[in-house]
Amino acid sequence: MSEMTGHRELSLEQIVSFLKADRQEENELFHRSATLKQAYVGNNVYLRGLIELSNICEKDCYYCGIRCSNRQVHRYRLTHEEVMSTLLFAHEKGFGSVAIQSGERSSPTFVRQIDKILRDAKKVTGGEIGITLSCGEQTKETYRRWFESGAERYLLRIESSSEKLYGKLHPADEKHSYGRRIRALEALKETGYQTGTGVMIGLPFQTVVDLADDLLFMKQMDIDMCGMGPYIEHAATPLWEDRHQLLPLNERLRLSLRMIALLRILMPDINIAATTALQAIEKEGREKAIRIGANVLMPNITPARYRDDYFLYENKPLTARNDEEELDYLEERLQAIGHRIGYHHKGNSPRYKKRTGREQ
Ligand code: SAH
Repeated sequence: MSEMTGHRELSLEQIVSFLKADRQEENELFHRSATLKQAYVGNNVYLRGLIELSNICEKDCYYCGIRCSNRQVHRYRLTHEEVMSTLLFAHEKGFGSVAIQSGERSSPTFVRQIDKILRDAKKVTGGEIGITLSCGEQTKETYRRWFESGAERYLLRIESSSEKLYGKLHPADEKHSYGRRIRALEALKETGYQTGTGVMIGLPFQTVVDLADDLLFMKQMDIDMCGMGPYIEHAATPLWEDRHQLLPLNERLRLSLRMIALLRILMPDINIAATTALQAIEKEGREKAIRIGANVLMPNITPARYRDDYFLYENKPLTARNDEEELDYLEERLQAIGHRIGYHHKGNSPRYKKRTGREQ
């Protein structure tokens, strides 16, 4: 660790060795990333209220519980009114922004539905609420239309930056092509979004070199935000077959925390989310991530009666607490680790501000 005096200059070999670190090296890594985080983004944690708009999906990704071939899923879509009242709840509670996530669809009706949500959200909150979209690959025209209607950020995980591994996780057709996903990411950046990506950690067939390459990919793409977390198997997916070669869940959690710490070191001024999948493995997984590098939390605020249907993987945290209680709980937990919630702030990525000179 001593050779790591600066930041941003980690080689592939150094990253790999940190991913394989022993406990002591891990402590040093976490100490370094926590210090850098404090220096660059401070101890504010920004909230993105997560609204799971619909689990209807045209894709058939081998890892995902809501893939179109899974006939056991009860498919739903929130009505416009449900989205708006959820959004207003977030606004009233002082969430600076919401993230609208959905199964992937490209029909004109879907594109219009999102468009209307964006316009109305702006109207009813006086432009005060920031909106992140996470609605998959769309045409450049669609991305532009949504941007003009008020979406400021877009999260599109590359899932794995290794084309070979990507190929093993998806059907071999144009709809699931690696190239198409990369081009979509590039289109998002060109359109002007604060652009986020991310990967799953601990996938079958994935090596630590793949993971190190993922981090360097994010650096090279000069992304503004990242959401990444452990892969968790789902019984009704093809990848379930390969579960025997997976790392134990607690190892996948540790690896994810190391990935977050290393990304904070490589890209100290971006927004990094402590994702739900961390919490699925350990009750306090998200808090651990905040401590060592993450600065964004995405509490699920999807109306309760739909929440259990957006079932991406096993153990996904469901409706244990109500949203108010969840917020109190988070506030308490964050305070205990010296952090506080940045209420009423959109919490834009400092990287984006530097990159573009734009506030939002
Ligand atoms: N349709 C959108 C959103 C997909 S769901 C899109 O294409 O971007 C959001 C994320 O859930 C995915 O990007 C994927 O990384 C994650 N996910 C899906 N299945 C998962 C699993 N089994 N374990 C962990 N994360 C998973």
